[in-house]
Amino acid sequence: MRALAYRGPGVVELVDVADPIPRPGEVIVAVTAAGVCGTDHHLVAGELGVAEGTIPGHEIAGRVVALGAGVTGWAEGDEVVSYGQVVCGECAACRSGHENRCTRAVGIGMARPGGFADYVALAARGLVARPAGVDPAVAAIATDAIATPYHALRAIGALEAGETVAVIGAGGLGLHAVGLARLLGAARIVAVDPSAEARTRAEAAGADDAFDPSAHDQPARALRELTGGVDAAFEFVGRASSVELGLGALRPGGRLVVVGIGHDRPRLPPVVRFVGTELAVRGSFGSTRAEIAAVVDLVASGRLDTSRSVSRRVGLADAPAVLRAEPGPARTVIEPGRAATTTAGG
Ligand SMILES: [Zn+2]
Ligand SMILES: [Zn+2]
Repeated sequence: MRALAYRGPGVVELVDVADPIPRPGEVIVAVTAAGVCGTDHHLVAGELGVAEGTIPGHEIAGRVVALGAGVTGWAEGDEVVSYGQVVCGECAACRSGHENRCTRAVGIGMARPGGFADYVALAARGLVARPAGVDPAVAAIATDAIATPYHALRAIGALEAGETVAVIGAGGLGLHAVGLARLLGAARIVAVDPSAEARTRAEAAGADDAFDPSAHDQPARALRELTGGVDAAFEFVGRASSVELGLGALRPGGRLVVVGIGHDRPRLPPVVRFVGTELAVRGSFGSTRAEIAAVVDLVASGRLDTSRSVSRRVGLADAPAVLRAEPGPARTVIEPGRAATTTAGG
């Protein structure tokens, strides 16, 4: 089969490799669509230290074409999407329904081959059915770009109707956070991003205000003045400055949920303010398989607008150039069945 292989920092190429064979509990999926995530750009840039030969891609939609031993509940021809990691199913986190915290999780497209290929072996336990009416490209990115903010807003952020929300970082995840916050009944949504293009897209996605932090000497104060203090801030960047901005924008009793990943060490406000105003900070990582099923249902029902979720579709042959390029605001989906000519579409 064809696959994209990581060959070292900045090097990714289209190669021929042996077709995967399903181990017990696994299925083979013919990949229909695989989303290109920010993580994949970090991987190709050499920042994640994955092994040479790694096939990236963890946002996968496809059709089951073979079953390994012991697989029940799935049949050849089933249309599916997949959880982004293979979890152990046995640890305390897995047993309590928090498999996104599994301590023995194996990342698909990182520690095991991913979906930037014609076929991929996936754990049957991680599959979710794709309803016929849902575009495979949208279903693929729903597993991460939609399910991750869904988990952050609902399970971790406990967002309630009528609240004021700041979405910091209006890239792929942040844009979907805006739409989901609206769906969950947020009264006012402020999208925060230094990119004018990102702000415009956030307003199109339903944000009430778009705030440019780079236009202010004291952005946290300006954001607090604009909003009167937000009930909940969701950070999708993973930098100290944006975490501190989120904290600084909270009203008393407000909470910050950090979704962006990085190695910065943000500072808390002075203890007297942190304690005195009862602020809360939580991390939020990925989602559960059940939450993926929930967002796929939201997409299928039409309640969540995904008409702008996919901005570019490419075949496998065109994908290496996309992966080597600087990640932009465009959300690219690789469709292995697509011919080798880059086309715009949505
Ligand atoms: Zn991802
Ligand atoms: Zn586990």
